[in-house]
Amino acid sequence: MSLEDVRGRIRAAEAAAGRPEGAVTLIAVSKVQPLARIETALEAGQRVFGENKVQEAAGKWPGLRERFPDVTLHLIGPLQTNKAKQAVALFDAIQTLDRPKLAAKLADAMAATGRAPALFAQVNTGAEPQKAGVLPDDADAFIAACRRYYGFEIAGLMAIPPVDEPAGPHFRLLAEIAARNGIAGLSMGMSDDFEQAIALGATHVRVGSALFGARAY
Ligand SMILES: *Cc1c(COP(=O)(O)O)cnc(C)c1O
Repeated sequence: MSLEDVRGRIRAAEAAAGRPEGAVTLIAVSKVQPLARIETALEAGQRVFGENKVQEAAGKWPGLRERFPDVTLHLIGPLQTNKAKQAVALFDAIQTLDRPKLAAKLADAMAATGRAPALFAQVNTGAEPQKAGVLPDDADAFIAACRRYYGFEIAGLMAIPPVDEPAGPHFRLLAEIAARNGIAGLSMGMSDDFEQAIALGATHVRVGSALFGARAY
């Protein structure tokens, strides 16, 4: 599917949900994709990208940013504390804040570098043991602690619903947690369900394979 097709579907979903045009930011998930496909998207005007690994992003984005300095980069994969500083230096948004120890490391890195990436807390809406993210029952306390102890502004919440369940209830749960905590951003919806996510309030959709084609691991 072309970038124009995906953008068209996003605009149509915004309109269908009675939301203003441009309410939803398309994050083009470029992990594992060949450089040529990423360059094609950049040349077509796409400027917001998502990567799930710090190391991989560090290998390709500094070079691309020399040519496209207005790119915005989101980290959407789990972040180890020993990579917090590198992540703060490289990314404009970190969507996977999910534990106090990581919050502390990010606060240190932000103080040391003077950079302040937008922070999204990841919520493990399906309480899956193998998945990152704060548990739904712990989310309110975690958000409050991030605000109180580190002075963080939490820009949004992010979730990856379980693959084997309908996504709708997970999107609704994430939206509820955001609403009761006064959080504006909702990063939810991927290639197969971004329109449904937009209907349920997504402000950021993370689209990879629908945009770039299948990932060849
Ligand atoms: C890979 C990835 C995506 C994109 O998935 P597609 O199904 O290819 O659109 C979205 N979010 C996260 C967190 C991912 O790791």
